[in-house]
Amino acid sequence: MNNSGPRDVPAFGEDSAATDDALAALHAALAAATPPQAGVLRQAMDALAEARQRMTEAQDRYAALFNAVPDPVSILSAEGVVLDVNRAGILAYDRPRDAIVGQPIELLNPDLPSDHLQPVWEALNRGDTYVIEVTNMRGDGSRFPVEVHSAGFQDHGEPCIVAVARDLSGRWRAESRYRLLMESIDKGVILFDRDLRVLSANPAAHRILGVNGNGHGSGFNALLDPEAWLIVDENGNTLTPAQWPTNRCFQAGRVIRSTIIGLYHRPRGRMLWLSTTNVPVFGTGCDQADHVYSMFSDITELKRNNTLFARAQSLAHIGGWEWDRGLQRLYLTDEARRIVGQPLDMNDMPDLLDCLRSDDRVALQQALADTIEHRSSFGLELQGQRRDGHSFWIRMIGEVSTGDVDAARIAGTVQDITERKQAEETLRVQARTDPLTGIMNRDAVLNDLGVRMGSPGHDRVAVLYIDLDRFKVVNDLLGHNAGDELLIEATRRIATAIGTEGLLARFGGDEFLVICDVHDQPDQAEQLAERITAAFSSPFQLGSDEFPVTASIGIAVAPRDGDRPQQLIQNADTAMYECKRRTRNGWQVFSPELAQRQNDRLQIESRLHKALDGDEFRLVYQPQISLRSGATIGCEALMRWHNTQLGQMRPDLFIRHAEHTGDIVRIGQWALREACRQVRQWQDDGLGTLRVAVNVSWRQFVGEDLARWVRQVLDEFGLPGTALELEFTERVLIEDAPDTLRTFARLREMGVMLTIDDFGEGYSALNYLRRLPIHGLKLSQLFVEGIPRNRSDVAVCEAVCAIARSLGLGVVAEGVETEAQRQCLLGLGVTVGQGFLFAPGLPPDEFERRLRGRQPPPPPL
Ligand code: C2E
Ligand code: MG
Ligand code: MG
Repeated sequence: MNNSGPRDVPAFGEDSAATDDALAALHAALAAATPPQAGVLRQAMDALAEARQRMTEAQDRYAALFNAVPDPVSILSAEGVVLDVNRAGILAYDRPRDAIVGQPIELLNPDLPSDHLQPVWEALNRGDTYVIEVTNMRGDGSRFPVEVHSAGFQDHGEPCIVAVARDLSGRWRAESRYRLLMESIDKGVILFDRDLRVLSANPAAHRILGVNGNGHGSGFNALLDPEAWLIVDENGNTLTPAQWPTNRCFQAGRVIRSTIIGLYHRPRGRMLWLSTTNVPVFGTGCDQADHVYSMFSDITELKRNNTLFARAQSLAHIGGWEWDRGLQRLYLTDEARRIVGQPLDMNDMPDLLDCLRSDDRVALQQALADTIEHRSSFGLELQGQRRDGHSFWIRMIGEVSTGDVDAARIAGTVQDITERKQAEETLRVQARTDPLTGIMNRDAVLNDLGVRMGSPGHDRVAVLYIDLDRFKVVNDLLGHNAGDELLIEATRRIATAIGTEGLLARFGGDEFLVICDVHDQPDQAEQLAERITAAFSSPFQLGSDEFPVTASIGIAVAPRDGDRPQQLIQNADTAMYECKRRTRNGWQVFSPELAQRQNDRLQIESRLHKALDGDEFRLVYQPQISLRSGATIGCEALMRWHNTQLGQMRPDLFIRHAEHTGDIVRIGQWALREACRQVRQWQDDGLGTLRVAVNVSWRQFVGEDLARWVRQVLDEFGLPGTALELEFTERVLIEDAPDTLRTFARLREMGVMLTIDDFGEGYSALNYLRRLPIHGLKLSQLFVEGIPRNRSDVAVCEAVCAIARSLGLGVVAEGVETEAQRQCLLGLGVTVGQGFLFAPGLPPDEFERRLRGRQPPPPPL
């Protein structure tokens, strides 16, 4: 088709000129016409004028419409010559109408290919509209993008084209901004079609996925061989194609946000971690997405750091948290979640607070409030419970981030300290527990009592001090295992007796404490004491032996009997001693009289302590007499104490005190040395070698080398061992001195005579008698007193004599006061005795006089 020159066709609007010509011709004909002809002509002229009028109106309408269209509209001939152009076209192309009309269309569309009309006519002949994006050119040569919609019509039987051009400059600007954005952002953006073909991909997508390409999908489509890729979720689980976020987006037709996926490219052996958001794109009127924009960032580094960080967290048992107060969100790292053992629904601070112990909940709330108020930080150790019921201990640290003026976010760490706390707890329990019986120990009960007595409302508290009677006998006779068994059984019995009404603790060897509240029931302590006593009524089965063991209980009630733990326990102890002294196997409530007695005791004990240095002791000597001949064959040294304030004190009393305080050890050493000094002096004074019996307390066997001391004293005064006799009570046998037997053996080796004093009064542990290297027994005056009238006393004396005889031991009778007793004793085979019948304890000079035969007559009975 030739587009080079204007085509000779009438311009649009030229039809009206033809009508005007016809009208002028009719006017000329009218002038020469006959009247009848003139009538016809006039009719024709009127019709013509009317037709002309209508045409003018139609042309005006067309022109108004044509020019009202805001987009450039051109009318083209079939060959592409511009027949008309509207006002918008004249403005857009910036050329006068005359410079356009009659020109080939290439004037306006310089970039059209030479055969561009062919596809146009093909479309128009099908009855379609032809649309094309082209570039138009203005009169000054500048260009602008247009989208041209072309349609065909007939004009005077000739096919014509009406072309409407829409200026795309605005859209192009938007598209170039979009392109710039796509090219510059660091997020990868890929447009997928439904077959998951890549339609476009921005440079970041190329860079992230390592594809060289031109921004279209070709490079990608080669890369996206499904066989080459392994796609996994955040935790490394393989995703099926249906689970790929892009496919899910197509399926669901909605945005799939911030999904973390891992892409492993098998041939390259490369792992990529992406955070991807997929947005569906819907075609007009479609209810299914036909495209998906997949936008993603490379989080491989982040993920690596995260993984390393998570590993470090889990190794250190430290998790992280952040509380966004504004959003009311609590963010916990995986490790933090593991530590508090909560699933994903712990989303705000109250959820965390909920699983804490109530005190700790309050503590954390307070710490958070303080932290917010002062923009500061906190560190707390908190205990809580996991969903599975296990309790946890955490150390929680938190602070407001620097620059956060509103304290809108508090963040910190949470550390699992459960193991440490459990270890501490175990240690604490161990430190509080008596290992043998499993009940509280002394320290724990003292602490507990202190707390109770210190807290208001709990000040009315009672202490029961329990001491087992005869425990030491069991321990000694049956061995430590039996002793342990006894303690365990005793614990069980007491615990059963008190139930939940008291707190039981082991206070010492065979001593227990029970603490109870006496608020609601004033006689609660007595009731418990009664129940405990009853619990000891049946004997204990120890191995094959049955052993009756009882308990002596002292009771003290706060605040009446003391407002401090030590004082209360001390008073309960005093009451217990009183009980033991009076009856054993029972209970005694502390009283002020007991306290008075205690006070006296303290007085005595403190004076006794200083008595040795004050030279307040003396020894008197009671002769030991041959019951047959009346000859003095020895003597017993008996201690006397005179104190200026207390006066003359009874030995049995002050000796007990001295034993209690331990002063007896020094006092006993003094007595031993003094007696030996006296014997030596008598010997030097020519009275011959006399044997002196010295009393030795059980305490001198515990913790002091008695044999060594005896050796030293004998050596000091140059005396043979045979000049000394040691009297000890059966208590020596039942106290737990490890070296008792060895001490006895060494003393015997020295020639020292060993005698059990007051035999029959104590425990009479007969099996000891066989094992001990002793020489004799002293028949207690308790029994001598009753003979010869009291038959049972006679029987006891007979039995003691029989035992002594069978073991080859000598017997000395104590407290011989009457001639009848002397006779009776002689009848029983006892040949030595001491007593007021012969003489009381005598000062040394008196004793000496008596020895020299110048003694005064015995006092009247
Ligand atoms: P003991 O060793 O059994 O001493 C005998 C006690 O009987 C002495 O009492 C003595 O005065 C008293 N006595 C002697 N003959 C008669 C009598 O015919 N009738 C009565 N009713 N009593 C008589 P004493 O001196 O009061 O001593 C009491 C206890 O004190 C002693 O009993 C002994 O166990 C202890 N004792 C005395 N001196 C010492 C000492 O130096 N060391 C130790 N450890 N204990 C001592
Ligand atoms: Mg004695
Ligand atoms: Mg005696």
